[in-house]
Amino acid sequence: MKVGLVTYTPDRIEGFDLYVYYAKWADGSVFPAAKNMQNDITCFCDAKAIREDPNIVAVSKNGPALRKNRKINLPFDFVCPTNPEYRTKVLDHIKGLDSEDIQGVTLNLYHFADEEFCVCPRCVDLWLQSGLNWIEWRAQTITGFLREAKSLVKGTFAVEMFPDPVLAKERFGIDFEHIAPLVEYFHVPLSSRDYFTNYWVDLLARDFLKVLKKPAVVELSAEMLTSDKVDALLKTMAYLSRHDLMGVLLLVHDSENAKQVCRFAVNNGAFRAWLRKFEFTEMMRIVRNWAQLY
Ligand SMILES: [Zn+2]
Repeated sequence: MKVGLVTYTPDRIEGFDLYVYYAKWADGSVFPAAKNMQNDITCFCDAKAIREDPNIVAVSKNGPALRKNRKINLPFDFVCPTNPEYRTKVLDHIKGLDSEDIQGVTLNLYHFADEEFCVCPRCVDLWLQSGLNWIEWRAQTITGFLREAKSLVKGTFAVEMFPDPVLAKERFGIDFEHIAPLVEYFHVPLSSRDYFTNYWVDLLARDFLKVLKKPAVVELSAEMLTSDKVDALLKTMAYLSRHDLMGVLLLVHDSENAKQVCRFAVNNGAFRAWLRKFEFTEMMRIVRNWAQLY
């Protein structure tokens, strides 16, 4: 199992195999490409673009796809994915990134906000013209966008997803079966403030491994750590290391967080004894590797 980092700064910290850098955020911020890294692009969540042109927001009968609309429970503000100008803007951005010396592109938030989206006049027209049912039209719209994006990327192409292995197609238009041939791997974010309760990480990792027909990496949050939180995080990683995952990624606030995780694993005798006692051989290998560096 590989171990990697998801970062807001383009630093390569020793002891990791995969580096994912957030190059475009859901608030609309855009940053220069990170060389030799996987560059992660937020597609249809863009609070800044919606502020500048409120007409581009996705809509439902319960109102717009905005965080401030509390009739619905959305974590970000969503642009309608069939808006031609905005779509072109995102694809141009991906093309621009690909001309830099990057490892590849990971897309996130490239889907519909939820099942009741989007019923703007353009989406309804396109749906009726397609002759498909609502779920199929939405799925084909999203897969079509990903196919176009992939054609612009020479390096590794991957996608994140809203971590729902069962209703992803109905709710978001994320059709794992048809996306699988386009990607090298799936990036499953299982974010949390802490992992003191972690059965759900194991549960979702198993479900996704069953559903996805391509390799998968699971992302865990490693921000704002205390010793107790690092201990729970590392034990959660250890359980994940028993599955057939391509890797585990740690989302860190800065490089110091990443080093803190490594140092805790290396220097905490009780944690290393726990790994030995319960025979987490793959996790022990990872910690031994960190011990050469930290
Ligand atoms: Zn629409």
